[in-house]
Amino acid sequence: MSDELYPAARVAAAAAAAERAGLDALLLTPGPDLRYVSGYDAHALERLTCLVVPASGSGDPFLVVPRLEVPAAEASPAGKLGIEIIGWEETDDPYALVAGRLGAPAEVGLADRMWALMVLRFAAALPGARQRLASTALSPLRSVKSPAEVAALRAAGRAIDRVHERVPQWLRAGRTEEQVAADISDAILAEGHATVDFAIVASGPNAASPHHTASDRVLHDGDVVVVDIGGTMPSGYCSDCTRTYAIGGPPPEFAAYYEVLRRAQEAACDAVRPGVTAESIDAAAREPITAAGYGKDFVHRTGHGIGLETHEDPYIVAGNTEPLRPGHAFSVEPGIYPGAHGARIEDIVVVTDTGCERLNTITRELVVVPA
Ligand code: ZN
Ligand code: ZN
Ligand code: ZN
Repeated sequence: MSDELYPAARVAAAAAAAERAGLDALLLTPGPDLRYVSGYDAHALERLTCLVVPASGSGDPFLVVPRLEVPAAEASPAGKLGIEIIGWEETDDPYALVAGRLGAPAEVGLADRMWALMVLRFAAALPGARQRLASTALSPLRSVKSPAEVAALRAAGRAIDRVHERVPQWLRAGRTEEQVAADISDAILAEGHATVDFAIVASGPNAASPHHTASDRVLHDGDVVVVDIGGTMPSGYCSDCTRTYAIGGPPPEFAAYYEVLRRAQEAACDAVRPGVTAESIDAAAREPITAAGYGKDFVHRTGHGIGLETHEDPYIVAGNTEPLRPGHAFSVEPGIYPGAHGARIEDIVVVTDTGCERLNTITRELVVVPA
């Protein structure tokens, strides 16, 4: 993608972050850490692909790839970084190759999503190296989004908002959750995403299960439906947005707690600004819900960071005392799940210099569709 989104300076920034974290090198296999640092969206396969980033001052970075993937690596953004690309033959041991070039590091940072297959091979090839997570170096970089990353997340937010705007036409009594989820999945792609990551359509009692998988349950007049959907854009950046819908007239007790939830989500978004802690946003969402008597029905944290992964730092949860900084992007998604039904409202927000910008802007009022 664009140089702005994946700037070449990231490799040097990662090397400096490794040094600050006390790591001698980062070992980045395919996944979000590799893509963040190099722009290379490599396939995760059993053959080793690994970007090796020594800490600042302890060597040049290099990219190890299977011989047959050298052309793909050269054609990727990683091919424009000016780093050495080393192809290994099918009969080579790529782990020994990396170890031979690195010397004897004391601490290495492994991509958080590296497969156990590779973790154990690196442990054997680098017996003197303590293995740690690359996120100890990269999370402070990845969690603070650049203006280009915020623009990519904004585009993702707009795309998923356009899908939500079309959801009312698909929610009808007599259709199944699976049928609605299929329509939504088609629309997630049609509105510009490269992949569908999830399409939660949770109706009736299923609405009380926050991570429900769309089922063959038939929608009924009077059902509440939680629709939580997201995908990954061609940029690599993710969307994630929840709205709650009602088919015909919702149950009478539902209206009361939906209004509590709407005000709690608003209060939490209003509390977002630089310098306040992540856990204070969780508290801002939880306090009005608890005060109204629904505290035990809010069974999850208030939010999660989002970027190249749907769930990443910073987590908006009690115990996370990290202060928010401009560029932090995360969800604000309180829910109330009494059992017979449930509700959640979720927006992605990005911290600005003075407060926050919501990247999802469609209505948060309960949308009632005809049965
Ligand atoms: Zn979730
Ligand atoms: Zn969600
Ligand atoms: Zn979410």
